[in-house]
Amino acid sequence: MLTLNRRTFLQGSAAACVLPATGLAQASGSTATLIRGAKIFDGTSDQLATGLDVLVRDGMIAQVGEALSDDDATVIDADGRTLTPGMSDAHVHIMWNDTIENLIYASPHEYTGAMAAESARRMLMRGFTTVRDMGGPSFGLKKAIDDGVVPGPRILPSGFFISQTSGHGDFDPRMNYNSPHFGKQVDPAYQRGWTIIADGVPEVTKATREILRYGATQIKIMGSGSITGAHDPLDVTEFTPEELFAIVQAAKNWGTYATIHAYTDVAIFNAIKAGVRSIEHGLFASETTMQMMKEADIFFSTQFLSFSVGPEQAGMTGSSVPKYLEAQAGATNGYERSKALGLKMAFGTDILGTIDLGPFQSQEFTARTAYYEPVDILRQATSLNAELFERSGRRHPYQDGPIGVIREGAYGDLLLVNGNPLEDISPLANPEDGLALIMKGGQVFKNTL
Ligand SMILES: [Zn+2]
Repeated sequence: MLTLNRRTFLQGSAAACVLPATGLAQASGSTATLIRGAKIFDGTSDQLATGLDVLVRDGMIAQVGEALSDDDATVIDADGRTLTPGMSDAHVHIMWNDTIENLIYASPHEYTGAMAAESARRMLMRGFTTVRDMGGPSFGLKKAIDDGVVPGPRILPSGFFISQTSGHGDFDPRMNYNSPHFGKQVDPAYQRGWTIIADGVPEVTKATREILRYGATQIKIMGSGSITGAHDPLDVTEFTPEELFAIVQAAKNWGTYATIHAYTDVAIFNAIKAGVRSIEHGLFASETTMQMMKEADIFFSTQFLSFSVGPEQAGMTGSSVPKYLEAQAGATNGYERSKALGLKMAFGTDILGTIDLGPFQSQEFTARTAYYEPVDILRQATSLNAELFERSGRRHPYQDGPIGVIREGAYGDLLLVNGNPLEDISPLANPEDGLALIMKGGQVFKNTL
């Protein structure tokens, strides 16, 4: 029997799992990469910059300038391709690759982890180098990725959803009137890190603190009915203003913020008053409520792809179908209002359910072209999302520099796009052919050049 010491094992696993054959920079022992001949979208500008080289050293962008050289660096000739910051997704559920009932109540939990590791790898290979996870037990996966053992995006985890009894995070299908608080039974949804059911100010305060104790970088509130919920109709409002305020205060005291899954106008209104810093979905907000979002500088984190297809294509079945159709009818209104008001729009996709749906994450780029110019969409998926993530303050796990921009001192998270995505964003929707280079933290995960 072959025995490996720990060092050999780590080296072996790093070579096998993390470095593709094209990971030249690392394979040759160099930690620097010089990218020449690219047009540059820096994450904010309307224009592509030309004539500039980008030097990445020790995981960070060390220099952006003309005719750079570095004897130790591996040189990549971009040959006119477009260099962009790595993309980010402000609304993923990286652990949610099966029905939630299976994940919580039926399948072995290592299945959840194994599927999520593969999902993370595929997300990175679609060009997403950072994701804000909007619920699910992703702390362990985050650590494995940060340790360089499993390939995947940087993760800002929310951990447990916080939900009222019968709310959007109450997944327990058993109608046995044995809630965790009154029947002394513990719901596996809690044991497995998916949701904390809490009612009343003392309970929601404690729940929020417990979630922060796990290392959540922001708090995800389940604040209104949903299309897919086990119990809650789409039109219901969840939590009282006092409960919402208590959650937001507990997050604030910890230096971070809360965001909320909310469709109904009342839920969104209450959440704004309570002080949330972003709204997820939010499509039924009235004009007045959206105006409040604008005035309070709240990010709107909604999805465009999810309502651009029919219910079957969106994976809806049974009672979810009419709820989906109702949401779809309100969606167009919501998109148009938020655009007209100039709300800060995050780029988030909320693709979940099976791992095979993953490629839809990239379709969000093209779905948004019905409302936005390509450069606006690119900003949403880079510098604007980064601004949203900054709202985690010192709880933001990646403090060495900014993400979502190409400038000196930023993380070396970069893509080379075949073509000019400011004119035609479709290469990002088709990353297998559309992306020539994927780099995260200076490490090359894909290089077709
Ligand atoms: Zn979600």
